[in-house]
Amino acid sequence: MSDDRDIIVKNLSYAYPDGTPALKDVCFEIIKGENVALVGQNGAGKSTLLLHLNGVIENNNGCITIAGKQLEKKNISDIRKKVGVVFQDPDDQLFMSTVFDDVAFGPINMGFSEETVKERVKKSLQKVGLSGFEERCPHHLSFGEKKRISVATVLSMTPDILLLDEPTSNLDPGGRRNIIETLKTLDSTKIIASHDIESLLEICDKAILMDKGRVVATGRSEEILTDIELLNSHGLEAPSIVKMLGDDVIPLLRNNFDSSQIKKHEKTLKKANL
Ligand code: ADP
Repeated sequence: MSDDRDIIVKNLSYAYPDGTPALKDVCFEIIKGENVALVGQNGAGKSTLLLHLNGVIENNNGCITIAGKQLEKKNISDIRKKVGVVFQDPDDQLFMSTVFDDVAFGPINMGFSEETVKERVKKSLQKVGLSGFEERCPHHLSFGEKKRISVATVLSMTPDILLLDEPTSNLDPGGRRNIIETLKTLDSTKIIASHDIESLLEICDKAILMDKGRVVATGRSEEILTDIELLNSHGLEAPSIVKMLGDDVIPLLRNNFDSSQIKKHEKTLKKANL
């Protein structure tokens, strides 16, 4: 029987070396191709969880299976080819003196020929809308450009699974829109940890809500991320647009708002300039 589960996490617990508990008995499954929102207030354990999924933090407790393979020390380099992580701070991702070298770093380490590396860099920069940036110095780019180059450094390894930590944080509206549109074009399985619930509603099918290291709710993103009471009870706030439109926010954000919904919310939409 074929197994369409890309990520299985069972009973994962973790405390940092100083004793701070970060994950408690975390369990969930993600199907191939799903876009999953990972939400929770600061300190909920989102980053710690992402760092476990490609072995940056070693899993001593519980079980993680990626594309049918249990994550263990001996297969960590194989797993890292499948799972790419985009860190919250692009300065943690970019360390070379040119954009080309940063984006080429992964494919070079994977042993590809010079020609293939060049092709991969070109395609990855195209995907993030930054073709022609090859010779620029990453540290002289705008924050939004650095974020997009960070995504390109991972795309160049064509990972089946993408983990993104706060991809839209600290971006201006144009930068945020660029990242959202880029993510929407990618077929890989994605887990996106973010406080930007509006963008998560636009991109994600499924949501995992964490609080104090535990998974407290999982389900379809339109259920979890529009449940104002649930979000409030775990220290989060629904975006104003969810408060204004309720469930109808989904078709609005996903561009299939029909005429009856436009009529129903006419006044609200006018007021909000939408
Ligand atoms: P989130 O990404 O949801 O904000 P984190 O995974 O960063 O949450 O943090 C989970 C918990 O682990 C928090 O209590 C945080 O203070 C703690 N923590 C994170 N990194 C470290 C670290 N390097 N050493 C000790 N505690 C840490």
